Amino acid sequence: MSNEDPRESDRVERGSPNLARLVQSLPENEPDGSDDGTPDAAAAAVAALARGEDAESPAESPETVSDDTEPTPTRTTERRDVILALDIGGTKFAAGLVTARGELIDRRRVEVERDVVPEAHFTSLKGMLDELVESAREQHNARIRAMGVGSAGPVERNLEAISPVNIPAWRDFPLRARLQEATRLPVFGDLDAKALALAEGWLGAAQGHSNFCALTVSTGVGGGVVLNGELLDGATGNAGHIGHVIVEPGGRRCGCGAQGCLEAEASGLAIEAITGRSPTEPTYEIMQRTGRLVGVAAASVCNALDLSLVVVGGSVALGFAATFFHSAQVSLDEHVQLPYSRGARITPSRLADSGPLIGAGAVGWRGLRRARRGVR
Ligand SMILES: [Zn+2]
Repeated sequence: MSNEDPRESDRVERGSPNLARLVQSLPENEPDGSDDGTPDAAAAAVAALARGEDAESPAESPETVSDDTEPTPTRTTERRDVILALDIGGTKFAAGLVTARGELIDRRRVEVERDVVPEAHFTSLKGMLDELVESAREQHNARIRAMGVGSAGPVERNLEAISPVNIPAWRDFPLRARLQEATRLPVFGDLDAKALALAEGWLGAAQGHSNFCALTVSTGVGGGVVLNGELLDGATGNAGHIGHVIVEPGGRRCGCGAQGCLEAEASGLAIEAITGRSPTEPTYEIMQRTGRLVGVAAASVCNALDLSLVVVGGSVALGFAATFFHSAQVSLDEHVQLPYSRGARITPSRLADSGPLIGAGAVGWRGLRRARRGVR
């Protein structure tokens, strides 16, 4: 897009679209800080997966795995492997079937009910998953290999316990174990914003990049950082939570206890509290201000981590559209002056509302690869 991007050289040129996608979806996005990240190990992992995928998945033309991520009717007679993907958002639960190539072939959603007991949430979730399991078998001739889950935070590693801010009934809810018990599938999970970072690197706006950060600006603000081709986890799995970068010292009190965090100033909830209006009916000023603050936070991250690409998704950012992105870029330009960060770009997520489910699918495929390699 921009030939001024100093990191254009980071783009990995590859010949075959399928191979490129496979290679890119695998070792470069392996977020295992703990394992062997050597090129040899990566190459071996790719080779193993390439063999596995060839054996298990029907060959499809590259055209069918373009950016078109809408669910498409499936007519294949061969059985294919999919991940049962689940996204736990603040206002809805969404689930889908994601192939090894990132196609979202079916999807469902249910609204998160207000003021219900923990089990009521799980029951509505379970109903949706049951429908998809049946659909995988009856309509898509697909074999579900595992579940992949992206969840709003805070969470414990691998979603052993989740406490999404906007689902008050779930505090330390043992999601992974409950899903495993309900579906009898291996269940792999991560924070939703980290899942989105995986998706953007796999098939979205950061495809081919080994260093970038992904941000979601919606009800809350989350993020994930891919550095040297690996999604960062951190000590507790929360690395990349850019929502708590301070953008207004002494500003609004954040849910985390600090003041002036990006989340306290630019999230959908913050915007509603500040303006008294829903973020779906923004003023020009609030769209500009939100963009500017996201640009400030993005600049700090680019400067600190040697990044030059920031992918932004989430209903607030995408809803504010060009006004938001222009303002964010101007603000980013102003605050990145170092030789390595100057020229950093902020760009919209390319996966639109399919991103969270493709991200959850990516978490599932990654979990299976790690399990195969004996990595936790
Ligand atoms: Zn905070």
